[in-house]
Amino acid sequence: MMNTDLIIIGAGAAGLMSAVLAGRAGLSCILLEKRHRAGLKLLLTGNNRCNLSHVGTAEDMAAAYGETIGDFLRPALELLPPRALRTWFEEAGLPLILNRNRVYPKSEKADDVLHTFIDKLRDLEVPLLLNCPVTGLEPVEGGYRVRCAKLALEAKCVLVATGGASYPKTGSVGDGQQFAKDLGLEVTPLRPGLVGIEVADAWLHSQADISIPDVRVTLTANGRRIAVTEGNVLCGGQCLRGAAIFDATRLAAHHQITSFELTLDLTPHVFRNGVGKWRDVLQRTPERLPEAICRELGLGPTAITGLTRALGRDIGSVDELAERLQTIRPTVIGLRPAKEAIVTVGGVALSEIHRETLEAKRLPGLFFAGEVMDIDGPTGGFNLHAAFATANLAMKTIATRLQDRREPQNDRRPPQNDRRPPQNDRRPPQNDRREPQSDRRPPQNDRRSSYAPLQNVLPRKKHQN
Ligand SMILES: Cc1cc2nc3c(=O)[nH]c(=O)nc-3n(C[C@H](O)[C@H](O)[C@H](O)COP(=O)(O)OP(=O)(O)OC[C@H]3O[C@@H](n4cnc5c(N)ncnc54)[C@H](O)[C@@H]3O)c2cc1C
Repeated sequence: MMNTDLIIIGAGAAGLMSAVLAGRAGLSCILLEKRHRAGLKLLLTGNNRCNLSHVGTAEDMAAAYGETIGDFLRPALELLPPRALRTWFEEAGLPLILNRNRVYPKSEKADDVLHTFIDKLRDLEVPLLLNCPVTGLEPVEGGYRVRCAKLALEAKCVLVATGGASYPKTGSVGDGQQFAKDLGLEVTPLRPGLVGIEVADAWLHSQADISIPDVRVTLTANGRRIAVTEGNVLCGGQCLRGAAIFDATRLAAHHQITSFELTLDLTPHVFRNGVGKWRDVLQRTPERLPEAICRELGLGPTAITGLTRALGRDIGSVDELAERLQTIRPTVIGLRPAKEAIVTVGGVALSEIHRETLEAKRLPGLFFAGEVMDIDGPTGGFNLHAAFATANLAMKTIATRLQDRREPQNDRRPPQNDRRPPQNDRRPPQNDRREPQSDRRPPQNDRRSSYAPLQNVLPRKKHQN
C-alpha cells in the first residue's frame, strides 16, 4: 500500500521549493533529508548572502546556461522566469534587493531564505523527516519504494532533488545520481564546475586575499581557446578564485579539460580610456610604478609585492606596460577538488528526462529537480534559479498527474479537450484533511487539476492600504 502520493528526496533548494508547492497543491507528500538540518548548502550560498536569482528574461537566462542546458531548461524558465520568482519570494514575505543584476534577500542573509521555506512547510503541515538518508529506490506496482537507513516508504511519485556532489558536509554527495544509475539511467561523469585554480606563483600565495575587481581570464589548452571570462579574481591560499576564474573553470569542465594555460589581463578596459594617464604612471620612479598601478587599478597594498614580481622591471613604454599587465601567466598546478566546487558539472543525463515535465522518460512517476541533473550555470544566481525553476516545473506535472488520478472514475471526469474539472467540483473532498487549516489556501479559482504558474499558486501578500 502506498504511504503517500509523493516523496521528495533532499531538502535543499529544489526539494524545499517542491515541498512547499506540493503543500500548496494539497498533495500528500513527505520530504526526506539526509542531514540533521535542511538547506545546509543554501546557507552557504553567495557568501551566506544567497544570490538566489539573476535579472533577465527566460530567454536571457537560457542563453547564459549555454546551448544544451539552456534548451533543456527553457520550459522551466518560461514557467518561472526571474521576475516571477522575485514576486514569489516577495509575496512569501522575503523582500529582495538587486546588486549588479544579482538578486539577494534584502537582509543579505541566506538564513532568511531558508526560513521562508521552513515556515511555509510548517504552515502547510508538510512532513519533513531529518536524519533520514535514502539508500535506494525501486519501482513497485503503482509507484516506487524508497528505502531509507531505518525505514521504507512507498509513493505514487518520487522527486529526486539530492543535488550535485560538492561540499559533501552539506549532504550532497551524488546519491541521486547513483539511484539513477541503479535504475538503469545514464549519468554523465561528475566533475567540478565553478572551482578555484591552484597556482605555483609565490606572489599569489598571499595569506590575506587580494581582490582584483575587473580581470579578463583566458584558458587555453593545446593552443585552443577554451574560455574567456570577465569579473573579479581573488588570490590567496595558493589558489585563484572569484567569478572570472569560476566561470572559466566551468567551461573547462564542459570541455572535459583539466590541464590548461591561464592568462590574466588585469586591465581589460583601462587602456581603452586613453594612454595619457598610463604615460604619467610610467614616468614616476620605477620603484613606485607598481604602487601607482595598484592605485590606478584599485588594488589594495597587499598586491604591490606580487605585482612588482609579475611585471618585472625595465618597462620602457606604455605599450610594454599594457602588454605586461594584459598577459600575466601564472603557472597552473591544477583545479581544486570537486568537494570545493560551487557546482557539479555532470549528473543524470538530460537525454533521460522529458524537459517539458522533468519526468524520467523510461520510468514514469520518477522526477528530477535541481543539480542532480546534468545542469549547471555560471555564477550570478543561475544555479539556484535553475533549482527553483525545475522544482516548479516538476511539481506542476506531479500535481496535475496526481490530481487527475484523484478525479472520480465516473462520468465526472472532464472531457478530453478540457482537462479541468467542472467549475463546481474544484474543492477537495470534505474528508481530505490534508489542506492547511490557515487562510493560506490558494484562491478557489486555482484549485483546478492543472497546476497554475508558481506565483499564482502561492498566497498573496496582504496589501496594507
Ligand atoms: C559555497 C557555495 C556557494 C554557492 N553560492 C551560490 C549562489 O550564491 N547562487 C547560486 O545560484 N548558486 C550558488 N551555489 C550553488 C547552489 O547552492 C546549488 O546549485 C543548489 O543548492 C542546488 O540545489 P539542489 O536542491 O539541487 O541541491 P542541494 O542544495 O545540494 O540540496 C540537496 C539536498 O539533498 C540532500 N540529500 C542528498 N542525498 C540524500 C539522500 N540520499 N537522502 C536524503 N537526502 C539527501 C542533501 O543533504 C541536501 O540537503 C553555491 C554553492 C556552494 C557550494
